Amino acid sequence: MMGKMNKLENCPECNSKLNENETIQYCENCGYWTNKGTVRFDSIAIFA
Ligand SMILES: [Zn+2]
Repeated sequence: MMGKMNKLENCPECNSKLNENETIQYCENCGYWTNKGTVRFDSIAIFA
């Protein structure tokens, strides 16, 4: 199933398996990291 977008399986830099925590995915090999999935800006989005 193509569930979540923006979810990586492997590091785009070195192609190692990515680890993840609650908010980011990260690579222990090269130090690459990226935000996981959708970042919620709704609470800080202000339309004046
Ligand atoms: Zn890497």
